[in-house]
Amino acid sequence: MRNQARVVVIGGGAMGCSLLYHLTRLGWTDVLLVEKSELTAGSTWHAAGLCTHFAHNLTIMNLRAHSVRLYQSLESETGQPVSFHPSGALRVTRSADRMDEFRHVQGLGRFAGFEFHILTPAELKEIYPLAETDGLLGAIYEPLDGHVDPSQATQAMAKGARDAGAEISRHNPVEAIERRPGGDWLVRTRNGDITAAIIVNAAGTWCREIGAMMGLDLPVVPMLHQYLVTDRVAAVAARDKELPIIRDPEESWYLRQERDGFICGPYERDGNPWSIDGVPADFGMELLPPEFERMEAIVAAAMARVPALAEAGIKTIVNGPITFTPDGNPLIGPAFGLDRAYLLTGTSMGIMEGGGAGRFLAEWIVGGEPPMDALAVDPRRFGGYADRDYRLAKAIECFGKQFAIHYPLEERPAGRPRIKTPAYDAMADAGAVFGAVYGWERPNWFARPGEAREMVLSFRRTNWFERVGAECAAVRDRVALADLSAFSKVEVRGPDATAFLAGLGANRPPRRIGGIALTHALGPGGGVLSEFTVTRTGEDRYYLVSAAAAERWDLDLLRGRAAPFANLTIDDVKAARGVLAVMGPRARDLLVALSDDDLGNSAFPWLTAREITVAGVPVLALRVSYVGELGWELHHPMERQADLLAALMAAGRRFEAGLFGAFAMNALRLEKGYRAWGADLTSERTPLEAGLDALVKTEGRDFVGRDALLARVRAPDRWSMALLALEARAADPFYGHTVLQDGRPVGLVTSGAYGHRVGRPLALAYLTAEADPEAGDLSVLILGETAAAEALDCPPYDPDDRRLRDSDG
Ligand SMILES: Cc1cc2nc3c(=O)[nH]c(=O)nc-3n(C[C@H](O)[C@H](O)[C@H](O)COP(=O)(O)OP(=O)(O)OC[C@H]3O[C@@H](n4cnc5c(N)ncnc54)[C@H](O)[C@@H]3O)c2cc1C
Repeated sequence: MRNQARVVVIGGGAMGCSLLYHLTRLGWTDVLLVEKSELTAGSTWHAAGLCTHFAHNLTIMNLRAHSVRLYQSLESETGQPVSFHPSGALRVTRSADRMDEFRHVQGLGRFAGFEFHILTPAELKEIYPLAETDGLLGAIYEPLDGHVDPSQATQAMAKGARDAGAEISRHNPVEAIERRPGGDWLVRTRNGDITAAIIVNAAGTWCREIGAMMGLDLPVVPMLHQYLVTDRVAAVAARDKELPIIRDPEESWYLRQERDGFICGPYERDGNPWSIDGVPADFGMELLPPEFERMEAIVAAAMARVPALAEAGIKTIVNGPITFTPDGNPLIGPAFGLDRAYLLTGTSMGIMEGGGAGRFLAEWIVGGEPPMDALAVDPRRFGGYADRDYRLAKAIECFGKQFAIHYPLEERPAGRPRIKTPAYDAMADAGAVFGAVYGWERPNWFARPGEAREMVLSFRRTNWFERVGAECAAVRDRVALADLSAFSKVEVRGPDATAFLAGLGANRPPRRIGGIALTHALGPGGGVLSEFTVTRTGEDRYYLVSAAAAERWDLDLLRGRAAPFANLTIDDVKAARGVLAVMGPRARDLLVALSDDDLGNSAFPWLTAREITVAGVPVLALRVSYVGELGWELHHPMERQADLLAALMAAGRRFEAGLFGAFAMNALRLEKGYRAWGADLTSERTPLEAGLDALVKTEGRDFVGRDALLARVRAPDRWSMALLALEARAADPFYGHTVLQDGRPVGLVTSGAYGHRVGRPLALAYLTAEADPEAGDLSVLILGETAAAEALDCPPYDPDDRRLRDSDG
């Protein structure tokens, strides 16, 4: 075994071997994989091998699609059999909401270029004659799906990597990981030490153990999953064509043909966590004892749908661990706080995701940025809030909801509340229906007194529609308060602070003390990594506010880019500072009632900040508004929040002040065409493609991504963001809808909502260079129906920002 490598990958399952293979394909051959046992000896060898394209997130759909393409070509490339069966797959349903979900995924697939077909029960019967169709509303058919032999596919990737010069060291457990002076890693293995520039944790079920060696506490829990393998089934043996995979998500099972019989895999609603506090040191390739009684009722449901299954005897039951993260998506990307250390683990579907995940991370490592939007898989989406209780509660929930419908705006309850602000109780008393962002509870909308505080989930307009409309009206007509404390907040100070901020993003930082500027920190390719509202609070002092969920990305980015500056301090003040927003035409009147400071337009104009006192509480007041009205964000010591809110609510009675939640805020910002980080602004697109030209200052400046940003303006594959007003339908846009022109896919909606102030559904979408918004005939595909769309030249609400400037104030 070599004692030095550019990359050391820990773990030889589907994920690790895929990464090794793809690194070599990108020309990185000085790479070494260390495996404690045999390759595939973790979860990989006993997986059922199902591969699908079905996903709600475009990146995950693409990862899965790449796996299928790869497994189909590996055999001819490496000479190793992988047994890929292009059987196709079906999902059946009795639920109208599920049919909406199918149509939504089909629409996303239209943009991505993957085939999904919606079937009637009669069409389903033609494709799957062994299924009973009683009670079914329909199905989705995925002709490109199939299944693979997971061990063979992993061995083939390993062979492809080895043939290209990679090394694999088997029967060689990693025992410790240390950092060397200078930044290289020292990976201590049973067979000797290895120095590595980069390490990757691909240790599957053992990823927490390897994570602990790296100094990480990964939010992962192994959950036990079982499937049964049957003997020969006459009706299956009699067929001359392989049956597609079939899943019944309401009954929570999958079924695929295995030779002349079946593999049937149930997902119980009450998942079975295993080894939460550490996988036993001696656990290796073995399986756990079968627990048939846990699966019995679900298998009976599968037999009712496919009666031939009942004829078969059970040959064997496989029971093994699968890792689950709190949201069920894998951990792929940089480890928080550690440079040159990555995670490629936490997947509950590592066969269907493995091929694509390995390529995704290889391109990220080699290219320095993710090839696609990484938000859904980046490990930094979880923060310190994801402790033991949380990860356990969420893993059990995720397992039980393996086949649940993914509704837009859904909030899942397990493990909450995690972080409550001091405003929580008052908001709850006022009817708040909470959601959680990055562990922080925040009101999504407010129910009327006596009304159920329940989110009736739907892909269409639902129980909060009218209430959100009323919240928007309060913001437009009077004044309304919101708790925005979940924002990420950082203080940057020191003699180098101004120089540091001057090169941080595409916009210049504010020059004057009290100035505010929005700036986007870019990746090397010019895409948006972070969005900061930068306030200059002193000569050498700045206050940065960014998206609630962006905390770990932003801290990594700021600290990484601060390295060349000796006289700079970066303090995370997220938990110490609360934010209450006061928005609407009466916002000034309300604040004046509680403050002696001059809040008039000339003393306190739009896009400036000052330290003032409101109801005796010292606040940094930012005159900014994401909702397009006169208003202030009051950033205050968290421990004073309850007093401040109580005073604002009491003084607000005179003005019939309302409250507004995150759903209203989303609708209000869309009416102003404001882009949202994470949805509309991602690493895939530059701020110029996002239409933020006014925030890009390239003259005489140098910042990461500058040249790439400018080069993309002329690139044939450039994108441009459009604000679309849509014809009203029963379903308003949310995200992931394909934009069509003359029936051709020309773009994708990244966010959408009904704009209550303008009375129209609105969406932000990226259009390809092929789209011609001027030529008209644009439409948006929502749940299988097209809604005519018009690309707007300017935001439909207050395009001149008069309300924000409030020039009469
Ligand atoms: C019953 C069952 C059915 C499944 N069916 C499917 C399916 O149909 N489709 C699908 O996509 N997924 C399926 N899965 C999930 C799938 O098996 C896993 O998601 C996938 O195998 C994870 O791959 P991995 O490479 O991340 O981890 P693993 O396969 O667990 O690989 C991790 C490797 O790290 C090694 N390792 C651990 N510690 C060390 C150390 N200290 N030093 C060196 N090496 C170490 C282990 O030996 C192991 O080989 C199923 C899982 C189960 C249990």
